[in-house]
Amino acid sequence: MKFLLYTTTYGKSGSIQLGHPGFWVPAVLVLSGLIGAAAGLGYTFGGGSAPLADASAGEENSWQHALSEQKRELVQARDAAQNDLNALAVRLGQMQAQMMRVEALGQRLTRTAKLGKSEFDFDRTPAQGGPADPVVREPLSSLDFMQALNDMETQIDDRARQLQVIEDILSSRALNNAVSPGGRPVSKGWLSSYYGKRTDPFNGRQAMHKGVDFAGKLGSDIVATAEGVVTWAGKRYGYGQLVEINHGNGYSTRYGHCQQILVAVGDKVEPGQKIALMGSSGRSTGPHVHYEVLKNGRQVDPTRYVRASR
Ligand SMILES: [Zn+2]
Repeated sequence: MKFLLYTTTYGKSGSIQLGHPGFWVPAVLVLSGLIGAAAGLGYTFGGGSAPLADASAGEENSWQHALSEQKRELVQARDAAQNDLNALAVRLGQMQAQMMRVEALGQRLTRTAKLGKSEFDFDRTPAQGGPADPVVREPLSSLDFMQALNDMETQIDDRARQLQVIEDILSSRALNNAVSPGGRPVSKGWLSSYYGKRTDPFNGRQAMHKGVDFAGKLGSDIVATAEGVVTWAGKRYGYGQLVEINHGNGYSTRYGHCQQILVAVGDKVEPGQKIALMGSSGRSTGPHVHYEVLKNGRQVDPTRYVRASR
């Protein structure tokens, strides 16, 4: 058997014969090279890590690098999210602690104002497992967190509504105590005419008496029935010498037929303060004070205010 062998080294062709070592040595070298390459290829496409060549090895390295980079970023993002969640959980804990303070305040107000417990039950906790440690130690899932936030919101709305009602009651009570007229407009004297329809002492006809009269000695004290500001101090048709006091909160009072007025418009007066002396000025048959209570500009029956304590 004879093979033709071309070499570039010598630029000429020649022949070699099998059995001659000049054939076998290069042939074995070429074959082993081919087998090695095939093995390398199979290994590479089978998913192994042995690089086929320097180029693909570099590419694979950069993939690996990108992957681990992404993995690292993912871990960082997850940690950051968990940190944020933990921070929010701490904030939630603080809010819950605040809420407990508000509830304590509400309980105290309810007791102080002696309000009905059924209506203002600050002991009732809405659908929760009792007072929890405000600092959350276990990592919180976002679902737990949203649930906790929703519970918190419900609780806040509920408490805010209850506190608003309590505040309204307390402030109206305080206002009533401060500005609602109370007691008699005289320090000495007696009630001589009620509020309502009566026979007019001047013409004998039925007429509406829009105040109550207190009779007494000429020159005796007329006193303010509540704190307020003087808005009239002088003569007025039908009233003679009149003092009018505005108490705020829609209330004002009038003191008519005075002999002498001791206050001026704009003066601030205290409950029980002497504001005038009893007289019989104007449409009057004898020494008395015509006392009116006005609510939002209209005369009301003063009787219950007179009976109320100042
Ligand atoms: Zn009168």
